[in-house]
Amino acid sequence: MQHFPVFMAVKGRRIVVSGGGDAAVAKLRLLLKTDARLEVYATDPDPEVVQWGLEGRLTLCRRHIEASDVMGAVLAYGADEDDLADARLAAYAVEARVPHNIVDNLNDSAFITPAIVDRDPVVVAIGTEGAAPVLARSIKSDLEARLPSSLGFLTRIGRSFRHAAEQLPFGRRRRDFWADYYGQVGPQAFAKGGEDAVAPALAQLLADHLSQTPRKGHVDFVGSGPGDPDLLTVRARRALDAADVVFHDRLVTPAILDLARREATIIDAGKEGFGPSMPQADIDALIVTHARKGRHVVRLKSGDPTVFGRLDEEVEACVSAGVSFAIVPGITAASAAVATIGQSLTKRGRNASVRLLTGHDMAGFADHDWKALARPGEVAAIYMGKRSARFVQGRLLMHGCDPQTPVTVVENASRADQRILSTNLAEMEPAMSDAALDGPALTFIGLAPRASQAVVRTLVQEAVS
Ligand code: SAH
Repeated sequence: MQHFPVFMAVKGRRIVVSGGGDAAVAKLRLLLKTDARLEVYATDPDPEVVQWGLEGRLTLCRRHIEASDVMGAVLAYGADEDDLADARLAAYAVEARVPHNIVDNLNDSAFITPAIVDRDPVVVAIGTEGAAPVLARSIKSDLEARLPSSLGFLTRIGRSFRHAAEQLPFGRRRRDFWADYYGQVGPQAFAKGGEDAVAPALAQLLADHLSQTPRKGHVDFVGSGPGDPDLLTVRARRALDAADVVFHDRLVTPAILDLARREATIIDAGKEGFGPSMPQADIDALIVTHARKGRHVVRLKSGDPTVFGRLDEEVEACVSAGVSFAIVPGITAASAAVATIGQSLTKRGRNASVRLLTGHDMAGFADHDWKALARPGEVAAIYMGKRSARFVQGRLLMHGCDPQTPVTVVENASRADQRILSTNLAEMEPAMSDAALDGPALTFIGLAPRASQAVVRTLVQEAVS
């Protein structure tokens, strides 16, 4: 490590910045987050710096910095974007024994400024010794996605409870209390009721822990998206991090299950269109049994749990057992599939509504309003539509749908083995059989891949060859 990270006490102390252009503005944006007294020396400051000066957020001196200005400061920044001015600032700082940073000049700086994830009072500093700023930025955005924006607020409230929490014995019980707060109760209270809900929830949590009430179970119904873990929501990832038990359908990919907390029990509920599966009533009962034991159950459903997911039966089971639940939406297969073909589900002047259909229901092939679907410009996204392809094709043709109507099938949308089959209504059935689709597939009636998309064209060729 050539640079050692420290957190410098700056409250009420002076930080001097020489320069008022772009480099200074970028640094000032960071420095303005601190409680330091900022002094900027610039003969021709950027309007933004002038504005900050007028607002009293910094002191602007419209002249060059002098040696005496640097004396007694806690940090000094050289942001003149001019070698001579930078060298002068560095000399003043060395003379005054004030650590200095010359913007974008690692070698002439006594310290460097890290990339910062700000969830004040939680602050993460990321440094790469100046070697890979792009990497630092990408780590920063990963962390920002992982750390809820409410974290700073939750931490401040948490800090105000530290004293009260000392009523709990030191060790396991106190740790469990804080883990419950930061992992679940705090974020949930914030999500439901905003800032005002957090302190009462924390007080209640502390009362629960003090009286050792067993933890209440909870079920999160979580959309796992179409398969690519990058398409999970931040909230879904958080639920997976906290899960004691994870129930999943066969369509949920291994890459997503890998994200579940290591200690979690993973249960395969097996459902996938027609394959062998656990009866729905057994799933309902098992979810409730686990939750009643005080566990955090995550019920992962592919795509969005509210779309062809038999969600209501499981929710009803929770409601009648008095188990709390939440629904975490996900990206449904139709959204993922339409994105891959570069089209919209609705389009002005073409279709003002889109239908999500199932090819199959409890009674067999599902019946629909074929007459309406056969009208020009209509768009339908058919889930579970592989086996019913011939049936759907027949019904649409019978109701006068144009045989040239485009039909696109997206198999394994968002996954590495994604394929796109572009055909039309007349050819739909043989084309789908020939393609030997063995992954989950979404069929669009009335949409063709956008021809101008190079990436789409490649995939279409792949599918056809
Ligand atoms: N709740 C899910 C749908 C479950 S029904 C959602 O919102 O996406 C299962 C059907 O979803 C499959 O038969 C298939 O039609 C579709 N499906 C799920 N994942 C898919 C994927 N990655 N690519 C294409 N279709 C998919």
